[in-house]
Amino acid sequence: MTETSIQDELLAAIRTIPDYPKEGILFRDITTLLGNARAFRRAVDALVQPWAGSKIEQVAGIEARGFILGGAVAHQLSAGFVPIRKKGKLPFETVQMTYSLEYGTDEIEMHKDAIRPGDKVIVVDDLIATGGTAEAACKLLQEQGAEIVAACFIIDLPALNGRSKIEALDVPVRTLLEFPGH
Ligand code: AMP
Repeated sequence: MTETSIQDELLAAIRTIPDYPKEGILFRDITTLLGNARAFRRAVDALVQPWAGSKIEQVAGIEARGFILGGAVAHQLSAGFVPIRKKGKLPFETVQMTYSLEYGTDEIEMHKDAIRPGDKVIVVDDLIATGGTAEAACKLLQEQGAEIVAACFIIDLPALNGRSKIEALDVPVRTLLEFPGH
């Protein structure tokens, strides 16, 4: 199978919902991909492929769809899993990072003992749009001493150029397919 056919299969497995959660947004719904056993496996295999056989200590998944994909990636790489959550959801002591939204700010956090300095970490989410969320996650992990090997996403929205925010942190970005617009 060629790379193109993986992209075609994954593209066909993703459902687009217009005007969700608000007017003008084309919501790229991966629940249809997750519910398709073959597409789910191929997506996870393609995400991990560059690091198969490498020593990765932790996979950090961004709430909430990054948990599903990140858990599968961690299992494939025999790595641990670190949840990066919205503020107020984690039970132990946390470290936080604030980031800008279109209107106002938001905060993500993780447990303060989740990463050991020098850990090799892969960051996983379903989609990179403006890159604000993943940028905050990468900064938070780097502050804790993580060596982020890559940030991986199934979907890139290149019109928003989120990738450049992550690359500016010296973190390589891996995406499997693109959708035009935002
Ligand atoms: P951003 O911080 O702008 O890169 O937004 C990334 C987060 O918002 C990810 O967790 C995505 O799941 C979600 N997101 C942003 N835009 C979309 C979209 N068009 N369709 C689905 N999810 C999106």
